[in-house]
Amino acid sequence: MAYVIVDTCTKDNACVDVCPVDCIKEGVFTDSDGKVYDMLFINPDECIDCGLCEPECPTNSIFAEINLPPELKHFARINREAFASGQVG
Ligand code: SF4
Ligand code: SF4
Repeated sequence: MAYVIVDTCTKDNACVDVCPVDCIKEGVFTDSDGKVYDMLFINPDECIDCGLCEPECPTNSIFAEINLPPELKHFARINREAFASGQVG
């Protein structure tokens, strides 16, 4: 499991400062359907599930993957593919 950022992120970088493993990265990811996500993303291969980032987010845009609301579940894939595709990292 990992933490996940969703597209209400305003890119204020508050989460980046508290992440102990520096796995939160800003970037632009274009999904296979052409939708563009310009936000911050969490690398699920590096996130250690410490939870420190979640309370820092002023827009409540960070969720533990298991706590993602149904309408936001696809952001687990989007965060993962942002890095796996090489578009972010
Ligand atoms: S849960 Fe911890 S390791 Fe994962 S992104 Fe947040 S601060 Fe970083
Ligand atoms: S703290 Fe929240 S709004 Fe700010 S950059 Fe991180 S995810 Fe985006």
